[in-house]
Amino acid sequence: MLKIGGKKMHEWALAEGIIGSVIEYGKRNNAHEIGKVVVVLGELQDIEQEIVEFALNEMKKETIAENAEFLFEQEKAKFKCRNCGYEWYLKDSEKALTKDIREDIHFIPEVVHSFLQCPRCGSRDFEVVSGRGIYIKEIEVR
Ligand SMILES: [Zn+2]
Repeated sequence: MLKIGGKKMHEWALAEGIIGSVIEYGKRNNAHEIGKVVVVLGELQDIEQEIVEFALNEMKKETIAENAEFLFEQEKAKFKCRNCGYEWYLKDSEKALTKDIREDIHFIPEVVHSFLQCPRCGSRDFEVVSGRGIYIKEIEVR
């Protein structure tokens, strides 16, 4: 239960960060209002999109983002082996993982190195190419 509460807090904090950035961007660009906002959520982030969406729609009220429409895109987690250069996606290696471990990975992206290895050469020396961040891809100002 504690974990669930913590996760919800996380989503609200995230929404607060997004709405703050959007409003700041709008002000800097002398916008009358904000249109479409595209938010990219990395697959390694354990974010419940519905909660973020709800929070954003609450927070935008009576701001220049009042009429903003928030759209979400998911970015696949992708890895690249530093030893042999092979690139692969999280779903390619998920078969080898139990559900508990998958949840751990989503909760703490840093642990991927303990659970994953290069499917080609077996090395654990790999980098996370994409899917670990959350960012705003597009803000439409009017
Ligand atoms: Zn490799």
